Amino acid sequence: MYSSNSDTIAAISTPRAAGGISVIRISGEAALEIADKLFVPLSTAKKPSEMEGYTCAYGRIVHEGEELDDAVLTVFCAPRSYTGENVAEISCHGGIYVTEKILRAVLECGAVPAGAGEFTQRAFLNDKMSLTQAEAVMDIISAQGKAYHRRAVSVKEGALFKKTEEVSSKLLTLLGEIGAWIDYPEDDIPAVEDENIIETLSEISAELSKIRASYDNTRILREGIDTVIAGKPNVGKSTLMNLLAGYEKSIVTDIAGTTRDIVEESVRVGDVVLRLSDTAGLRDTEDIVEGAGIERARKKISSADLIIAVFDNSTPLDDDDISLIESCKKADGVKVIACINKTDRENHLDKDKISDSFENVIEISAEKGEGVDKLQSVLNNLFLTNSNIYDDITVNERQKKCLDRAISCVNEAYSAILSGITLDAVNIVLDDALNALMELNGKRASEEVVAEVFSHFCVGK
Ligand code: GDP
Repeated sequence: MYSSNSDTIAAISTPRAAGGISVIRISGEAALEIADKLFVPLSTAKKPSEMEGYTCAYGRIVHEGEELDDAVLTVFCAPRSYTGENVAEISCHGGIYVTEKILRAVLECGAVPAGAGEFTQRAFLNDKMSLTQAEAVMDIISAQGKAYHRRAVSVKEGALFKKTEEVSSKLLTLLGEIGAWIDYPEDDIPAVEDENIIETLSEISAELSKIRASYDNTRILREGIDTVIAGKPNVGKSTLMNLLAGYEKSIVTDIAGTTRDIVEESVRVGDVVLRLSDTAGLRDTEDIVEGAGIERARKKISSADLIIAVFDNSTPLDDDDISLIESCKKADGVKVIACINKTDRENHLDKDKISDSFENVIEISAEKGEGVDKLQSVLNNLFLTNSNIYDDITVNERQKKCLDRAISCVNEAYSAILSGITLDAVNIVLDDALNALMELNGKRASEEVVAEVFSHFCVGK
């Protein structure tokens, strides 16, 4: 639940953990007056409400005669603040106890607790940013690598908004022309030719599809690469996974077949995030429990984004290895990196067979921690250079759904015209397309849509 806009809201904007400093943010009409009640300035003679925007002061936080902390107060005056309202930010010592105590004092002085994402929601409602820009704030916070961060920043700067606005305005012009012709056919308005409409619609559809493509193109950056580490028992899958994860996660043993299930872990390797599954060793087995794990592993292989196929440098290729090579070949559209492990041991593996079977082969010693840099550069080649050539935005699930609706309406209008359906019917469908785009950028988003967007934010943002 969000407070009413006339309320002044407050929350801790830094993580709820001990740290160097914490920031308590207050926003609303009474923000500076509330700060007046708590903040005793030492570096200036001015009370917070007398301070100018973009200035700060050092002082003490005192509530009901008790000194809570010393702090720096930063003042922002409406409309020149993140939310567009008066904002006071108290930077205090970063202890959980002291930060919460100051927040409580702020609330006792008249503020109400901010809901999830409410500061950013106010920024949106006060026209400081569009809905897509507000969503990009969350993407910037959650970005785990350079490529995604760069795109999120560009959406925050309005790139997605601008792209959809351009298409919307084309659509609006077309709707205007069709509408005028429908309403005043007898007037001197030039007839809208079907060919012109068709041409404009196919342009619009192509542009929307191009924007929509960013959803798929950035999925890997947003969600991480769904990765399976596959190989027969004992080749060093768990050791590799632990090396990447930086700590013991799966059970490493010398007894073949002990990794029974799929263990999942997200790790960052350079600029990409791998969602790792360490699968049960892929080999034929009589053991029922192990068998179930192997079945799951086989399924996972065909649905992953990436297979890291591990082979043991110290043992000759056997039927299990050959069967892994075959499974990788069959996994259509899945990228594969062959990883020859245990290079610290004497070579008995037929490496030529591996190089002949795979495009990307790296040699590592998972136990000695050698070769992660090679993995990193292959990953960059496979996943980053490709997505870098696409444009500079991200599209999230909500935005994708709006684009899908818009595209399907535009395509419907296109077919309707081809099959000779009247222009007023076409107009209705195109109006729906425009609505979907307006919902995307927040210009015509319902309260529920807006609330849903901000419910995914953290409190304090
Ligand atoms: P998994 O069954 O494929 O998960 O294999 P494990 O990760 O459990 O490793 C099996 C055995 O091989 C363990 O004793 C590991 O310590 C060992 N091992 C893993 N990687 C290496 C390596 O790079 N060099 C050497 N010498 N031993 C390794």
